[in-house]
Amino acid sequence: MQETINPLDDDAAQNDQTGANNFHESKQRVESGDGESLLEKLRLAEERSAMLAAIVDSSDDAIISKDLNGFVTSWNLSAERIFGYTASEMIGVSITKLIPAERAEEEAQILPKIRRGERVAHFQTRRITKQGRLVDVSLTVSPIKDVSGNVIGVSKIARDITGLKNNIEKSLILSAIVDSTDDAIISKNLNGIITSWNPSAQRIFGYLPEEIIGQLVLKLIPPDRQDEETLILSRLRKGERVKYFHTKRLTKSGKLIDVSLTISPVKDDQGRIIGVSKIARDITDLIEAQKQSAMLSAIVSHSDDAIISKDLSSIVTSWNSSAERLFGYTAEEMIGQSIVKLIPSDHLEEEPQIIASIRSGQRVHHFETKRKTKYGKLLDVSLTISPVMDVAGRVIGVSKIARDITDKKQEEQRKNDFIAIMSHELKTPLTSMRAYVQLALAKAVDRSDSFTLNVLSRAETQTRKMTSLIHDFLNLSRLEEGKMSLNVSDFSLSDLMEEVLSDTLALAGTHEIIYHACQEVNVWADREKIGQVLTNLAGNAIKYSPAGSTVVMKCQLDIGHVVFSVTDQGWGISRADQGRLFERFYRVETGNQGHVPGFGIGLYLVSEIIKLHGGEIRVDSELGAGSTFSFLLPIQR
Ligand code: ADP
Repeated sequence: MQETINPLDDDAAQNDQTGANNFHESKQRVESGDGESLLEKLRLAEERSAMLAAIVDSSDDAIISKDLNGFVTSWNLSAERIFGYTASEMIGVSITKLIPAERAEEEAQILPKIRRGERVAHFQTRRITKQGRLVDVSLTVSPIKDVSGNVIGVSKIARDITGLKNNIEKSLILSAIVDSTDDAIISKNLNGIITSWNPSAQRIFGYLPEEIIGQLVLKLIPPDRQDEETLILSRLRKGERVKYFHTKRLTKSGKLIDVSLTISPVKDDQGRIIGVSKIARDITDLIEAQKQSAMLSAIVSHSDDAIISKDLSSIVTSWNSSAERLFGYTAEEMIGQSIVKLIPSDHLEEEPQIIASIRSGQRVHHFETKRKTKYGKLLDVSLTISPVMDVAGRVIGVSKIARDITDKKQEEQRKNDFIAIMSHELKTPLTSMRAYVQLALAKAVDRSDSFTLNVLSRAETQTRKMTSLIHDFLNLSRLEEGKMSLNVSDFSLSDLMEEVLSDTLALAGTHEIIYHACQEVNVWADREKIGQVLTNLAGNAIKYSPAGSTVVMKCQLDIGHVVFSVTDQGWGISRADQGRLFERFYRVETGNQGHVPGFGIGLYLVSEIIKLHGGEIRVDSELGAGSTFSFLLPIQR
């Protein structure tokens, strides 16, 4: 800023001093007694002094004089304009009135210099106006000397540089922007020679400023696009700007990059085009992202599943062709509409629940429900619902994939019906068969026919197994139909345990069964179903542990409830399998343990029955270290 020398300052100061010297000269001539030329000289001096006064008055700079004590002796029009005080307000008043408190010492520093006859040029400081506003000024302070060269006063030229300062600040900000932007900003002259090159230009194109400034811009243009430059220049000459022009450019290493160019003419004060500025944005990643998004949208539109997006107010924002096929509405009919249109009245509570879990950033997986088509038909659908997030990770919408599972559901229904009918049909003959076997068994006991006794006992065990299996199937189909209900009663736990134990012992010829009974207590539950749970757990413990090992059945009394557990010394269950063990038809891959027959419905039933009783089944297991299954039941005393 110190370099912003204004020749006017010097001239004005010079004029001031010259004026004083000329006056001195004229006086000498008057004394020489040359009458005519003396008058002429006086007139000239007066004219000159009037001219000087006119210059002072018309100057854009504040021109002020003061005596050596700092009292103002003259005050021009610009002083009035810049500082707000009129001449009559200031003449005779101390100049310190204009000096802000924090700069009070400046006057004291300047005065000794002036007394020595020195000038202080372009001293930048701040002054305060009548209105209390601070102005940035550049001061030139000169001594005023009398005819004998004695300093008798001070002249001060003050230039308001607030605007100038603002411009400089603006240009500093602009150059900081140019340096920090992610875009390459390049300027060139009309001959295509590069004249400036910012850090992003270096990053994108690989050239250092010293390598490229002064070079032809054609260096950055691939050979097959060199004519673009002429085209652009001709448009610029017409004063047009070229905006977002997508093309390719060449980096120092010879790599082609996709760029978006904005090219503008650079004009001088008179509006003549003197150069060109170019903003180049590297859009290679953007183009790649566009390709990917085109691919994604092709996947979405060709998917067999309905893919729908909606905002957090459940308003549909996109609708693919499978959504149209599935639900019958076109995209035009659905976009902007609420998704609730598809939800049957008895499922309406689902939507707020879904939105709530989405808001918390959770996905909803394979949620099976019903939806309604345009024609009122009910569809079985499996929904996967995920949050759509913005770059900052905020949930801004919802994506929904809906798969029509009506056929699958019908298939399941047929399977269920089959299982229900089959188990029912098998149950009746089996019950009578078991009764006959028991009858024959009693006879064999009477006759002490050990062979028949042995054979019939085995037959009776097998019918028991079959009965239990058929019960499982029957319960499964009831559960699927939502028809499983509890038949609760108050019963003695030890009686039930006795029965389960005797059934288990009949099956467990190969295992040692240890039973830790609890105190005699009554529980409030469905006796048959709890019996089934215990039989299933004990059966699994035997099935999935080696012959000769021990199974411990335990019943423990606690405050208000009783805890059952079945522990085996089997091969255990991995953590991953533990999470899925209670799913319908889930079976663990046995690997080298050999094949154990089963359907994968036992634990599913166990867990559903316990849930119906308000409890929860737990598994504690480790691979190779056996398993413990446990659950609680409330006590009824
Ligand atoms: P199933 O026994 O008919 O396969 P379940 O639902 O009773 O069906 O059991 C599911 C799976 O859990 C079984 O296939 C078995 O791999 C595993 N499992 C159940 N109980 C045990 C246990 N005590 N020890 C090890 N694995 C078990």
